Formats: sequence, structure tokens, C-alpha cells
Amino acid sequence: MIRGNRPLLLSLPHDGCEAPPGFAVRLTPEAARLPDTDWHVARLYDFAVGQGVSVLRPRYTRYLIDLNRPPDDAPLYPGQNGTGLCPLRRFDGGPIYRDGMAPDAGERQHRVATYWQPYHAALADELERLHRLHGRVVLWEGHSIRSECPLLFEGRLPDLNLGCVDGRSCSPALRERLAAVLAGQDRFSHVIDGRFKGGYITRHYGQPQRSVEAVQLEIAQCAYMDEATFEYREDLAERVRPILLRLFEVCL
Ligand SMILES: [Zn+2]
Repeated sequence: MIRGNRPLLLSLPHDGCEAPPGFAVRLTPEAARLPDTDWHVARLYDFAVGQGVSVLRPRYTRYLIDLNRPPDDAPLYPGQNGTGLCPLRRFDGGPIYRDGMAPDAGERQHRVATYWQPYHAALADELERLHRLHGRVVLWEGHSIRSECPLLFEGRLPDLNLGCVDGRSCSPALRERLAAVLAGQDRFSHVIDGRFKGGYITRHYGQPQRSVEAVQLEIAQCAYMDEATFEYREDLAERVRPILLRLFEVCL
């Protein structure tokens, strides 16, 4: 956690690429490349610290535990394909674990206590601290995903997918100002509350009635990186970052 003093907290729950001891050897070779990571989102948003924004990012891969899922593992989008708290399948449908290596119920519970709870405790504490300082705070959930994932959605995802839980996780005023930033550029396609409306964190922490507002931005990875090699593309990223900066200025 990097603590700032502005009323904005950037949470990057799928940014982690490390594995605790003994974990990586249980993964299939395809899963060991961690293809479903929100690659490079910390780098993409690295201007945030200079703005005085607080930043929370995990150490470990989402394959260990998905911090953006509820601890009871209820599905985020009932009726649609998705991945759970301790996922067993990759976004491409292939297995994460080698045969017989998947976690049992006891191990899943242990992961919630050891990795999930501390992230959420840190997130809740920092939101409260900033809220006490300013009387308001915005939680920005920074995500990215491959632009094509047939198991999760049809076709190609828009470049910028803003999620406000159909308007329930932030005020109408903030939603309108963010929408105006997205509408005010024509380089990137965008949608608001499309396929991705906000995961568990956005839904759980967004309480606009007490001036705790939460929004999620899911970025199609082709907008800033090579989706086949997972390589960061500075030449692409430098076009996205000014828009992220404007979105943050609106929140601040
Ligand atoms: Zn994500």
C-alpha cells in the first residue's frame, strides 16, 4: 500500500504475479504463465502516486485467490460464465491445476484468511482514513482483460469499460462527469455498465449515500500491450494514460 493524501484510492486486485512457495509447481504449464493477470496495470497507472493517490496492489496471482470475489464465492454475474474465488479454470477454459493439485475446502478457507482478508482490511482502513480526511472518497478499481475471451463475452470488448453497478456504486454526478471524459475522446471505444459493471469490490465498498464512491475500469489489453506475448507497449500506453489521468482529475 502506498498512502497518499487525496480522496482517491486505486485498487489493483489482479495485478499480482508472484506465487507463494510450493504453489507454482501445482499449476499446468499454460497456467504457470499466469495468462489471466491484469498485466501491467500498476505501470499503466504509475502517474497516480505523483497525484497523491493511494495505491493498493497485491503480491500474489489471482489464481491463488481472487480478491475481487465475495468470500462466500457467490457468482458475480449469475447465468453467465465466470471464475470463482479460488478458480480452477483459466479464461480460455483450460485447467489451472495439474491433476490432483486443486485446493480442497480447508485450503480455500486458509487462503481467504491469509490473503483475502488482509487485502480487504487494508482497503477498508485506507478508505476510512481518506474519508475522515476529506469527508468523501473515491475507490477506483483498475482492471484489464484480453480483448477477446469467448468464454466470458462475445466478440471484442470495447477498449474502456467503465462499471458503476448500473449507477449504484457512485453518484449520478460522478458517473456523468466520467462519461463526459470518455465521450470527449474518439481514440478509444467505450461503454458504461456493459458486460463489466463492477466486481465484488466495487459493489461492496461503493456507498454513494455516505460519499464513498466506487467505479471500475476494465481496459481491453490490446489498448496498451501485446496480448500474445504479454509485453507492455509504451507506444500504445502513452495514448491511454492521458485519458486515465483526466478520469482521475474528475474524481479528485
Ligand atoms: Zn481484473
